[in-house]
Amino acid sequence: MRKNKDYLNDQSELKTKIGNLEAENEKLRMQLRDRTMLEERYERLENTNKQLNEQLEEKNNEISEYENQIQSIPNLEAELHEIRQQKNEKENECDEYRNQIDALQCELRYLSEPADVISELQAELIQLKMENKDYREKQSIHACTTCMDQPRNVLFMPCLHFTCCSSCAYKTEQCSICRMRIMGKVEVYQ
Ligand SMILES: [Zn+2]
Ligand SMILES: [Zn+2]
Repeated sequence: MRKNKDYLNDQSELKTKIGNLEAENEKLRMQLRDRTMLEERYERLENTNKQLNEQLEEKNNEISEYENQIQSIPNLEAELHEIRQQKNEKENECDEYRNQIDALQCELRYLSEPADVISELQAELIQLKMENKDYREKQSIHACTTCMDQPRNVLFMPCLHFTCCSSCAYKTEQCSICRMRIMGKVEVYQ
């Protein structure tokens, strides 16, 4: 009998233990689930952190590149200044060459059309000769026939020849045209 009672006691004790163990097991399973979730979250966070680090590194590279560019600004300004000076010099040179080209083109035009130039000059020469002749003729009509310089302004009496200027007439006793003795000299005003 005693053995049976002990056995019953043992059995209920075992049941209690099993119940406790099951509860413990459930608790552990919950903890395991929590841990898995935490691990997953940790992994996600780690991935995010990794991505952020990569982005940070990229930004740092960009910054150092910008810093290099900023440091090179004074050099660039000096270079720009030099380039501007060279540009001005080249522009001046260009102007000079352009002037030379213009001059050469003028010369070339004359050289390529020599016949035209010569005939132009010949026409001009003829014109000048005619003008000169006209001038001489006009001058000789009105000039004193003795000095060929001063205008005629003395009329000889009585032959009425009008060939002499007053200064030549002063020294003249005989008309140079008709050889008649001059009896009077009339000064004529125009
Ligand atoms: Zn005269
Ligand atoms: Zn006379």
